[in-house]
Amino acid sequence: KTLEDKVALITGAGSGIGKSTALLFAEHGAKIIVTDINEEHGTSVVKEIESNGGEAIFIKADTSKPKDSEMTVQKSIEKFGKLDIAVNNAGIGGPAEPIGNYPIDDWDKVISINLSGVFYGMRYQLPEMEKAGKGSIINVASILGQVGFANSCAYVAAKHGVVGLTKNAGIEYGKTGVRVNAVGPAFIETPLVKDSLSEEAYNSLAEMHPMGRLGRPHEVAELFLWLASDKASFATGAYYPLDGGYLAK
Ligand code: NAD
Repeated sequence: KTLEDKVALITGAGSGIGKSTALLFAEHGAKIIVTDINEEHGTSVVKEIESNGGEAIFIKADTSKPKDSEMTVQKSIEKFGKLDIAVNNAGIGGPAEPIGNYPIDDWDKVISINLSGVFYGMRYQLPEMEKAGKGSIINVASILGQVGFANSCAYVAAKHGVVGLTKNAGIEYGKTGVRVNAVGPAFIETPLVKDSLSEEAYNSLAEMHPMGRLGRPHEVAELFLWLASDKASFATGAYYPLDGGYLAK
């Protein structure tokens, strides 16, 4: 098993990509700390992992609050004695408006969860991993960490920021044994995308991908699995698109 004896913290693991990642990592032997603001979804993921014979705990935590990120790392260490892997995944979409109309409150909210949340996570994860002399952090960016997308300014700015933060972490921690990488999925079939689109909009989104479809959460989790594992021993400070050809155009 690729992640035997590893302890993995996954934020926003109650749904979508985070949930798929939690289930896949558990299947590969990791003990999982599931965090989310949605307690019902988070605890149901823990139950699913346990019913498959794995080990997991749920911590209710909001990634936009530094204290919650600190508490999550502390509790992980108390429970499992170490932290090998962190997937900073929690994120929201935000409204669809051009910059000139974009609501200020929504800008602040998207930036605080999608960008500051990743910083707060690493702020407390990195010292623990540095002490241990090993670790792998995966920051969930997006193809929109690389290119723009009309009417999504806060999301695009936050995801570009996540890519920049990841580069800095790679540079600063390169010699410590801790690896930090960002992944850029294209549009993935999760509640974040499905719930906000009409069928027509969904189909035109699919056509933006040369493969003619959206990605699936488990396809993203497979790349996370590699980055989290010791097989990715030379990977750090990098941005990995996973996009059905989206960025090739
Ligand atoms: P999702 O909505 O299915 O799941 C996100 C989870 O995060 C939810 O369970 C939600 O309760 C939780 N969450 C929201 N705000 C939180 C907070 N402040 N603190 C803790 N948890 C919080 O979304 P998803 O599609 O699985 O997205 C996961 C990540 O992947 C996000 O960062 C998103 O930007 C990124 N991403 C998604 C897509 C896509 O097309 N779905 C594409 C590229 C990147």
